[in-house]
Amino acid sequence: MTERTYEADAVVVGAGLAGLVATAELTSAGRRVLLLDQEPEASLGGQAFWSLGGLFLVDSPEQRRWGVKDSLELAWQDWEGTAAFDRAEDHWPERWARAYVEFAAVEKRAWLHAQGVRWLPNPGWAERGGYGAIGHGNSVPRFHLTWGTGPGVLAPFLRRLAEARSRGLVTVGARHRVDELVRASDGSVTGVRGAVLQGSRAARGQASSRTEVGEFSAQGRAVLVSSGGIGGNLEAVRAAWPERLGSPPARLICGVPAHVDGRMIAITERAGGSVIGRDRMWHYVEGIHNWSPIWPDHGIRILPAPSSLWLDATGKRLPVPLFPGFDTLGTLAHIGRSGHDHTWFVLTRKIIEREFALSGSEQNPDITGKSIRAVLRERVGSGIPAPVEAFMRQGADFAVATDLPALVGKMNAITQGQPELELAQVEREVVARDRELANPYTKDLQVTAIHGARRYLADRLSRVAVPHRLLDPDAGPLIAVRLSILTRKTLGGLETDLAGRVLSGGGEAIPGLWAAGEAAGFGGGGMHGYRSLEGTFLGGCLFSGRTAGRAMAAAVG
Ligand SMILES: Cc1cc2nc3c(=O)[nH]c(=O)nc-3n(C[C@H](O)[C@H](O)[C@H](O)COP(=O)(O)OP(=O)(O)OC[C@H]3O[C@@H](n4cnc5c(N)ncnc54)[C@H](O)[C@@H]3O)c2cc1C
Repeated sequence: MTERTYEADAVVVGAGLAGLVATAELTSAGRRVLLLDQEPEASLGGQAFWSLGGLFLVDSPEQRRWGVKDSLELAWQDWEGTAAFDRAEDHWPERWARAYVEFAAVEKRAWLHAQGVRWLPNPGWAERGGYGAIGHGNSVPRFHLTWGTGPGVLAPFLRRLAEARSRGLVTVGARHRVDELVRASDGSVTGVRGAVLQGSRAARGQASSRTEVGEFSAQGRAVLVSSGGIGGNLEAVRAAWPERLGSPPARLICGVPAHVDGRMIAITERAGGSVIGRDRMWHYVEGIHNWSPIWPDHGIRILPAPSSLWLDATGKRLPVPLFPGFDTLGTLAHIGRSGHDHTWFVLTRKIIEREFALSGSEQNPDITGKSIRAVLRERVGSGIPAPVEAFMRQGADFAVATDLPALVGKMNAITQGQPELELAQVEREVVARDRELANPYTKDLQVTAIHGARRYLADRLSRVAVPHRLLDPDAGPLIAVRLSILTRKTLGGLETDLAGRVLSGGGEAIPGLWAAGEAAGFGGGGMHGYRSLEGTFLGGCLFSGRTAGRAMAAAVG
């Protein structure tokens, strides 16, 4: 096989958001970059392209316009309660977390705004927690949807890449898969080696062939690993599954493209890099099978608002505070101990019209396409948003019926009775919940949470349905959705110091080696600790990619 050789000031492994941000910072400082990715150029941008573009911002003008009182102190209180750092190895993750929350409160919005990024006017309230003030969750709405979704977040960095390419500062090596980090006798990393993969016409996000047609080696004084997490490798996810989340699900669906294979993390570990927090991961419990899949086992996450009734596989309501959108991993742990991999949302047409958003740029063509008219029609007007309606018609997980016996019959048809749901059990939960709606106050904490959410005007106008009985015929038909566990984010990763330098097991920085984005646990090896406040992954890539890019530019200058 022929070997291609390259030389640059810096070699960036992975052209997702983190790698692109680092490349932009390096080239802005005049450095020459070799940007490598195993996928075809059609997939530039990695996962961020598919993302919803939700960003965690603190005390933003968008929040203030709705009267939301947020602050660095409140956000840090929420982050600490959510991350629950409790290990000696959390030293760098916790310092990264603090630096990131300060970035989100001070500089993040202005930096992105200056590069042309804009947001929807109504911040969403993700991961509401439901415990005490120092427990898990966001005290206030902080999830800012980018105008243009994931592609809108990527746009400035792709633009900067194109400019740097035209100035001859960047070489893009698509279909270049790195298999090894090259180390000198003094232990420093001096480059990478790998395989050139067969040219591929795979469309963005589709799995591409792994046939090798050549070899390459590349030298650089700084190497960045920005290769993403492990969520596309379901076996690796199961192998890392911690006991506290119950048994690993036999049936998982996949929320990320196949290139999120985690291979490069293991390669970096073999070169001496320390990997921490392997057991920390962020998967969703509201996954549905994509009726029009792009990658293998493709699942979509429903971003729920608080009104759906959440039942386990046997028809029992999930315990307090496991309401839709409150505590993702608490719910995952509950499901893991239940003996079944799926749960159910039971809701009405009125709830689905207001409360179902689907994660992903392609599921939100109105925002991705930046059409104000379409956004007003889909989100503020009445009716079921078109992408949700497509799932209702064609998705394998949806049952629709005008009465409860017919609905339960259809639910049993979806699971082929594994396990058989008893009508009497489902009816008992639905009727009891409906009785709690007769007064404006109630002992039912989910109903209290619905009333609470509607006190935030943006939720009241566009995200939370007027409270009503599920069996109210005017709200119907009834809908049930089978929910599966959907893999997504890797919270642990390569341990890095505050400059993004990869540390060895002994805690020393490995000369010449940096890491950023999901491969580095979004900073430090796991700045989220055990859990996330949401919208913090793209932000973690922006911050860690920027930090590493600037530090590398200084190091090779
Ligand atoms: C559907 C969806 C919705 C999401 N929504 C949100 C959201 O609203 N808010 C939020 O904060 N986050 C969201 N996320 C998460 C976020 O998009 C990702 O965590 C983030 O984009 C990861 O970026 P990255 O650069 O670290 O890695 P990636 O995007 O995974 O990019 C890594 C790149 O490295 C390449 N690579 C890997 N190994 C090698 C190798 N050995 N050699 C060469 N190349 C290699 C891969 O091909 C890939 O292109 C979402 C993700 C998805 C999939």
